[in-house]
Amino acid sequence: MLRLVNCGLRRYLSFEELEELPFVFHLFTIKQSGPALLTAVRKFPRETLLSCLGRTETVVPLKQLHGNSVVWLGKENRHEKLEGDGLLTLLPGVMLAIQTADCLPILVVDTKRKVVGNLHAGWRGTLRNVTGTAIREMLESGSQVRDLIVAFGPGIGVCCYEVGMEVVTAFREEFPESDSFFVSRPGYERKFLDLRKANHNQAIQLGLKPDQIFWNSYCTQCDRDMFFSYRREGARTGRMFALIGIQ
Ligand SMILES: [Zn+2]
Repeated sequence: MLRLVNCGLRRYLSFEELEELPFVFHLFTIKQSGPALLTAVRKFPRETLLSCLGRTETVVPLKQLHGNSVVWLGKENRHEKLEGDGLLTLLPGVMLAIQTADCLPILVVDTKRKVVGNLHAGWRGTLRNVTGTAIREMLESGSQVRDLIVAFGPGIGVCCYEVGMEVVTAFREEFPESDSFFVSRPGYERKFLDLRKANHNQAIQLGLKPDQIFWNSYCTQCDRDMFFSYRREGARTGRMFALIGIQ
């Protein structure tokens, strides 16, 4: 379950299920995570929230491309500018960072081999199966499917994610089962995409069981007090950060 945690006056979201894994540190920022987020958009509030938590790890961002390329972060590339929509690592001392404002941040963990990952999935990344790509990468590197955990952070809900027919058609071409990812609503011509369901399905397709996948019911567009939303506020809105690392 995703719960609100306080550090002084600052708040963030954290999965109880991941807190039970002593080698994992993770969090999802919200508007209340630090004043820096409200003034300087897209700048991680290191001086506020992370200092409050006493964290000193290097935050490693990714130039996100709305695709499905997944990068392993190791000693050799830890200081490089990385591009893609998924980061995986076995390296302690770093925090993998994904920024979103409606797209879905997705954490992946191998609980045995101690691998962590952070993914960015909007409709484009979901269509290109960034979740499946990351899980496949982990399996190919030696992970066992039974040891994996997937956790969805806060993103836009099916209540709000209205999409055009071209999105529905693109999904149909890629995933025969994709009609179940879309919801029709009386009075609306267009359909609504359930990003979590689509990404859940991609994990299930690779053998994960539903109890290895953690959901939440926050919607970034509905909840203006907690979240920035690209759809609600436009491109100049702030960003939330999902962080995960090995401690
Ligand atoms: Zn909503």
